[in-house]
Amino acid sequence: MIELVIDGQALRAEEGKTILDVARDIGIHIPTLCHHDAVSPSGACRLCIVEVYPRGSTMSYMTTACNFPVEEGMEVWTSSAKVLESRRMTVELLLAKEPESKIIQEIAADLGVEKTPFTLEGDDTCILCGLCVGVCREAVVGADALNFITRRGKTEPHIEFSPDTCIGCGACSLLCPTGFIKMEEVEGQRIIWGTAFRMRKCSCCGSYTTTEAHWEYMEEKVGTSSEFRTARDICPACRRDAISSELLDLPEKSLISLYETGTTDPLENS
Ligand code: SF4
Ligand code: SF4
Repeated sequence: MIELVIDGQALRAEEGKTILDVARDIGIHIPTLCHHDAVSPSGACRLCIVEVYPRGSTMSYMTTACNFPVEEGMEVWTSSAKVLESRRMTVELLLAKEPESKIIQEIAADLGVEKTPFTLEGDDTCILCGLCVGVCREAVVGADALNFITRRGKTEPHIEFSPDTCIGCGACSLLCPTGFIKMEEVEGQRIIWGTAFRMRKCSCCGSYTTTEAHWEYMEEKVGTSSEFRTARDICPACRRDAISSELLDLPEKSLISLYETGTTDPLENS
C-alpha cells in the first residue's frame, strides 16, 4: 500500500492505482473527457491535470491524473489555483474547437467558463482525444481500424480510417464526445466512416442488431457455440421475452421447489 495525501486528506492506496482512481474512490471529482474504463488512459485531453508535490519537496509539478500512478509520500492538489487555471485554459481551447459538444459545455460550466476567447473552429470537429483509436484497438479486441497520423507539413495529427479492418461495430461513434464520427442506419445498412455495412436481423422480431461483419469477427474470436448462435440470431429484447414466457409456463409448484431447494435461480439458468 502507498501512503499519500490528496487535498489535505491522508490515505492509503493500492500500489499501481492512478491518482484519478484514488481520488474517485474517496469521492473527489476530477473532470475527464478522454478517459473511459474500456480504454488505456492517455492523458490526451489534459482536463484531469493535478498539482503534485513529491515526498519531502516544496516544489510542485503538474501532471495528468488519469495515467499517473500514486507514489509514496506524494501530496496531490486536485483543485489548486494553478490546476483550475490550467483546466480553464484547456476547456476554452476545447470550446473553440467544438462549441456544440454538450459534455464540453458541461465541463466548462463547472469550471465557470461561459465562452472562449479563442477563434471558433466549427461544429463536430475532432479534438484528438484518442478515445476512438483506443476503443477500436483495445475494446474491439484489436480491430485496429483507426490511427493517428500527421501529414507532411501539418503540426496536428488526424484520424486515419482503414476500411479493410473496420467491422462497423459503431463503438468509436458511440464514444466520440464531439459527434465527429457520424453513424446512421438506413434500410438494413449501417454507414460509418463513409462505409456501408450490412446489418443482421433478429430472427424473431426482425429488428437489426449489429453488422454481419461484426458477428463474423466475433465468431472468429470466440468460435460458434449454441450460446453464440442464440446471441447472434435473437436480439436481447426477444431473448428476455422468451425467458419470461418460459417462466410463466412453469407450474407454480416447480418454481417454488426450485427456489426452496436452492438448486438454482431459473433466470440465471435460462
Ligand atoms: S466501427 Fe470500425 S473504426 Fe469504429 S470501433 Fe468499430 S471497427 Fe473500429
Ligand atoms: S474522432 Fe472523436 S473520439 Fe476520435 S479523437 Fe476525434 S474527438 Fe476523439
